[in-house]
Amino acid sequence: MVLPRHVYIHVPFCARRCTYCDFSIAVRRVVPVDEYTTALGRELDLRVGDQGRWSIDTLYFGGGTPSRLGGDGVRRLVDAVRRRLDFAADAEVTLEANPEDVTSEAVRAWRDAGVNRLSIGAQSFHDEVLAWMHRSHDSAAILRAVENARAGGIDNLSLDLIFALPGDLTRSWERDVERALALDPSHLSLYGLTVEPRTPLGRSQSRGDLVELPDERYEAEFVHAHAALTSAGYDHYEVSNFGKPGRHSRHNSAYWTGAAYLGLGPSAHEFDGANRRWNVAAYTEWLRRVNSGQDPLDESEQLTPDNRLAEQVYLGLRTEQGLAAMGSEASRIGAWIDAGWATLSPDNRIVLTALGWLRLDALAADLTLVRSCY
Ligand code: SF4
Repeated sequence: MVLPRHVYIHVPFCARRCTYCDFSIAVRRVVPVDEYTTALGRELDLRVGDQGRWSIDTLYFGGGTPSRLGGDGVRRLVDAVRRRLDFAADAEVTLEANPEDVTSEAVRAWRDAGVNRLSIGAQSFHDEVLAWMHRSHDSAAILRAVENARAGGIDNLSLDLIFALPGDLTRSWERDVERALALDPSHLSLYGLTVEPRTPLGRSQSRGDLVELPDERYEAEFVHAHAALTSAGYDHYEVSNFGKPGRHSRHNSAYWTGAAYLGLGPSAHEFDGANRRWNVAAYTEWLRRVNSGQDPLDESEQLTPDNRLAEQVYLGLRTEQGLAAMGSEASRIGAWIDAGWATLSPDNRIVLTALGWLRLDALAADLTLVRSCY
């Protein structure tokens, strides 16, 4: 068994549901910090069992909104992990945060607990867009959050932004990219809006109330961000992620290279190098199981050779490292190169361009099919 050097902890609490969100969350006005952190410590004991101590390279608090745990709640979670596992000297510890939670006091407490990277959910700098998204903050809160984070000693900051919003919103994507760059974050994650059926936005779409964005706008906004951010010195190192050199997300990079990771908390996924498992999603059921000493497992699966092949191709193509070309593929992908979707590196790796990443699913499926015939 591979001892995972990466740990993901899912903190499900949110103040309210954003219109586009289909994540597994628990909407709570008051976060049950004590109940959750105690249960998380129990899950860790249960799952790590008698495997002894080992060292981890990255710890990632995702959600939900982990920053809603406040300074003390995050400290207690980090302490719970430290009780069972060692941290490498340069361990990356990331906390996802909503802007309004990034106060001076909270940042000091997070930094003292060992958090050294914040991923801030900015999404847009247009107040009317943030209101439409049902976000709990305005654009001024994003600026305050960045200022407070730096003043409190955390300068490895990532901003999340959403592009491809409905055409009837008065949103300038170019202006949002400019405003994000003006804050000089070390990292940016950009996500195209997808309308999931079981969300307020999905319901709006089924009523015919949503003005959908044409595909060309999606493509134009993605390509604009690629050009603006790479010219500003960011590496477009994965389809959705841009980082300054040395500031790529080490935790997420571990996922893309197929490394093993431990997943704790409701709905958390885990991979041991050969098998995937995921926890029950509902907070109350996760809590009940953990508190009665039961594994909160929902389901698990062993990756078949076909699954592994598909995953290896998909993960390879989504990063700037690309995928080593096999057999006669170099000639086969000639059409991709002619279309501007890919390049072949001097060491014979297939590397997708920004235009290629816009077709990632189709290109990965095509190459998987080719490889499955070898
Ligand atoms: S804050 Fe994040 S996790 Fe919570 S509802 Fe909004 S998008 Fe979903």
